[in-house]
Amino acid sequence: MQLLDGKKILAEIKEELLQKVQTYVQKGSRPPCLAAVLVGNDGASQTYVASKEKNSEQCGFVSRILRFDESTTEAQILLEIEKLNNDPSLDGFIVQSPLPSHISAQKVFDAIDPSKDVDGFNTLNTGKLAKGMNSFVPATPLGIVELLKRYKIETSGKHCVVIGRSDIVGRPMSILLSLPNATGNATVTLCHSKTQNLKNFTLQADIIIAALGKAEFLTADMVKEGAIVVDVGITRIEDKTKKLGFRLAGDVKFDEVAPKCSFITPVPGGVGLMTIASLLQNTMKAYEQRFSTLNS
Ligand code: NAD
Repeated sequence: MQLLDGKKILAEIKEELLQKVQTYVQKGSRPPCLAAVLVGNDGASQTYVASKEKNSEQCGFVSRILRFDESTTEAQILLEIEKLNNDPSLDGFIVQSPLPSHISAQKVFDAIDPSKDVDGFNTLNTGKLAKGMNSFVPATPLGIVELLKRYKIETSGKHCVVIGRSDIVGRPMSILLSLPNATGNATVTLCHSKTQNLKNFTLQADIIIAALGKAEFLTADMVKEGAIVVDVGITRIEDKTKKLGFRLAGDVKFDEVAPKCSFITPVPGGVGLMTIASLLQNTMKAYEQRFSTLNS
């Protein structure tokens, strides 16, 4: 069994991005700039956004966080998005989920200029992804593809079972793996809450992507010998022995599943860090596309 080490790959990607930024800056360009819009005080969101800020600064990007009170209206957020769309000093931005219930997340995502939509949640980017066109791809599934690629894990002809069909993880993951390209060409089964006899599918899988958000759901009896298991889940489990009062659990019962696997991601230290890596790569892509448009 080998660990798919998100920490190591994130460090590699940050180093590659830093080198690129230094080259661009030496040639007289400004560095890439990424902003995050944060509405309300959700603890996990604060942590994610702080981590994105720290990592983007470490690869030479300019980072901005725009904080808004929980009571901010949808109209006010849409106005802020328009300002960010029109800000030439900014290459990409994200609106951190979850948003307060009085704000429509999809309306907000669709207001983002598709060329600055580095989270890839805008409907135009979703449609382009489905057609295999150049687009911004949601960071979590993109990060998983990158992780498999860097560990030279072949997907072509493999049976991949994706558990979970959300717009941000499961469905785009299933599309990426099925695209006719070097990191796709898999036979994909997309399972969800209405799937019957899930174990029948997971037992046939060469690669399992567990993205359902149920702690330690995938057990050893659901996995065939030698499978590759990617654990997307992050659930906070109350644990009074920890400083923060909780521990993070994935969707995979790691201790019993890992011995059966050829490769497996840890939680934490796996997919979560690859999500950050892909957000940074998407920001670099937005920056390069912006300047190639300006220079053409
Ligand atoms: P979601 O709640 O939007 O979707 C969950 C999906 O799982 C649904 O499509 C549902 O049909 C399916 N599902 C639920 N119960 C099931 C069952 N018993 N059997 C089969 N399918 C079932 O969740 P999401 O936003 O896709 O996130 C999933 C998990 O991944 C969460 O734990 C979330 O915190 C985590 N996540 C991690 C990252 C990261 O960077 N590591 C990023 C996004 C989400």
